[in-house]
Amino acid sequence: MSEHLLCCIDRVEPRGDGSVGVVVDGWCLASLPVESLWIATPDRARHPVSQGRPRADVGDAYPGYPDAADAGIAFQLPVAADEVTFGVTVKSPFGRTRTAETTLFLEPGRVQRLDILPARPPPSDIEGELVRCLDRGRGLMLRLDLVNRCNLRCVMCHHSDPAVRARPRGEIGLAGFQEIFASVAPWIREVMLSCADEPLVAREFAEGVAYLSGFPAVAVSFCTNGMLLD
Ligand code: SF4
Repeated sequence: MSEHLLCCIDRVEPRGDGSVGVVVDGWCLASLPVESLWIATPDRARHPVSQGRPRADVGDAYPGYPDAADAGIAFQLPVAADEVTFGVTVKSPFGRTRTAETTLFLEPGRVQRLDILPARPPPSDIEGELVRCLDRGRGLMLRLDLVNRCNLRCVMCHHSDPAVRARPRGEIGLAGFQEIFASVAPWIREVMLSCADEPLVAREFAEGVAYLSGFPAVAVSFCTNGMLLD
């Protein structure tokens, strides 16, 4: 679901003081907490919208929206108009403020849904977008351990934990590594053959490096304690 406003104009009437322009009131809800609302005029000037007015009827009708019982708004326009540029600043779930402007029609009695932030694409589209980005070039690093062992027990490392040492040996042999690499090879710019273990303990480490040497566009790296280097 996209982030949005629900707005309804209840009244558009000439100013009571005889000056040119209209007063507008109604209500406005947002799917995210609202920081501020404003009207933007063609000269890009912003004019505040009074908000937070009690609207128990709106709260009853839309209980799922933040502060729905105080959704009443009011503003004035210097001239009569059929529509205005309506601005909003909302606070996102991650604490960021987001600002958007949209068109609000001054049509009393009509509940308008105004999208203010685009909907996130569904997961399948995210995957498709990732593939499209990757198709523009090699952009990924493949980082993995070929074995879950180390020949040392450095005190600051998980390998000094008896529970870690007690794990069954796990190892990715050459055939397994080739299968993993082949599944992502077109997008890989670098392979790092170490994460949290000692790569030189792997029985087919050298064969894995030799295999990768057949892919000159792919950089190969690893981090080692060096104890097993010839
Ligand atoms: S993985 Fe590195 S830090 Fe951990 S025990 Fe081995 S050499 Fe030491």
